[in-house]
Amino acid sequence: MKSYNRISEIRSDLESGAVSCARLVDYYLENIRSNEGLNAFLEVWADEAKSRAIEIDAKIKSGTAGKLAGVVIALKDNLAYKNHKVSNSSKILEGFESLYTATAVQRLLDEDAIFIGRTNCDEFAMGASNENSAYGPVKNAIDPTRVPGGSSGGSAVAVAANMCHCSLGSDTGGSIRQPAAFNGIFGLKPSYGRISRWGLLAYASSFDQIGPMAHSLEDIALLTEIMSGQDDQDASMLQEKPLNHWSYNYPGKARFAVMKQAVENPGLDPEVKLEFQKILDKLVADGHHVTYFDFPLLDQMVPTYYVLTTAEASSNLSRYSGMLYGYRSSNATDLESTYVMSRSEGFGAEVKRRIMLGTFVLSSEQYDEYYEKAQKVRRVIQDETKKVLENADAILIPTTSTPAFKLGEKSKDPVAMYLADLFTVQANLAGNPAISLPLMKNSAGLPIGAQLMTKFGEEERLFDLSRLLENLNS
Ligand code: GLN
Repeated sequence: MKSYNRISEIRSDLESGAVSCARLVDYYLENIRSNEGLNAFLEVWADEAKSRAIEIDAKIKSGTAGKLAGVVIALKDNLAYKNHKVSNSSKILEGFESLYTATAVQRLLDEDAIFIGRTNCDEFAMGASNENSAYGPVKNAIDPTRVPGGSSGGSAVAVAANMCHCSLGSDTGGSIRQPAAFNGIFGLKPSYGRISRWGLLAYASSFDQIGPMAHSLEDIALLTEIMSGQDDQDASMLQEKPLNHWSYNYPGKARFAVMKQAVENPGLDPEVKLEFQKILDKLVADGHHVTYFDFPLLDQMVPTYYVLTTAEASSNLSRYSGMLYGYRSSNATDLESTYVMSRSEGFGAEVKRRIMLGTFVLSSEQYDEYYEKAQKVRRVIQDETKKVLENADAILIPTTSTPAFKLGEKSKDPVAMYLADLFTVQANLAGNPAISLPLMKNSAGLPIGAQLMTKFGEEERLFDLSRLLENLNS
């Protein structure tokens, strides 16, 4: 069967009868079977997807199908979907079933999307290589000896290897964009508050956003539009006009700002640098403005991110106590040992490290020195990012400093792993929307992403400029 890159193509083939939802579901299920070794899925909802496909095929015949009829979607294992398991790739939630459905998930369902399964990720979305899953690492779709990126590695690989049409991930510090870049697909971290977080299992609530991963920009825009908008369940939603139907408006000559500290970074892979420079050259040749800005704060971003996110995580994860739900140690004898043993046995090493770090930075002796200071630095990063975007339409840098690294290469060195987020955390610290575009490859054929970031709330401009870059590159 032909593989589809766009929802609009699926739609027209469904309407002409060239394909059916049932055939689409079979096609993706077959690809899931033949790619089992990539370990992208924790659970496949085959029977349910098949029967939903039959229902939606009937709706198409009667002309009542929604905008996402025939669109087969995989969900990261940290999104609630009522009566379906959700574990955040952790033993502590093994066997747990959601009691309600995330708002974003419900909005896709209401448009007749078909969910095919839940995807593997780093435990509690903490990681950049998907090696922190309690259910084994995911492997890169282009080179299985390499990591898929993280934490939404399974969601990226599922799309890249055509095991679903598109997927949802979550992004706290790069978890959608970095795996999208490593697998050669599109991935968006929307503005903070654009998409309701209701039903997203919390990691660091002031950073977390749900976002789409797909083969095309137009699908990213459509999915974002459907999932976005007010939700009474999430008090942190963006109070702005909702996204309209994105219609590409060529912005004429655009102004791109490039961070010096990123392109001159000693850790930047030479081929990433070279390929990125080619994009800048094409922009200039086409009459766009490319300027360079100084951002000495780059080195402060990863430490600030880790102080704040671990603090939030230590508070969010206190609910996994062995008492309310999830894993409870059978060796425990009283209340305290239930807490201690359930958490010690249920959480993996990285999650424990972050809970301890977060508890430390929040402790009364350390609070001013770490947590409060990091809050202030976050504000400065926000203000400085805003200033850059007063004189430019977008910030353009590579999504990551290297292409996908080898499995095991950084897993023993948490600091090296944390630095994999160097270019992506700014968007979460500042709240701005940012997208990874699959515009480059190295000489070995490994994908390299370009990251574009616009002002807070400016997804439409982000999509316009992404289209501009895509056209320039094609
Ligand atoms: N890699 C980052 C981390 O480990 C980002 C994670 C995310 O965005 N969920 O925290």
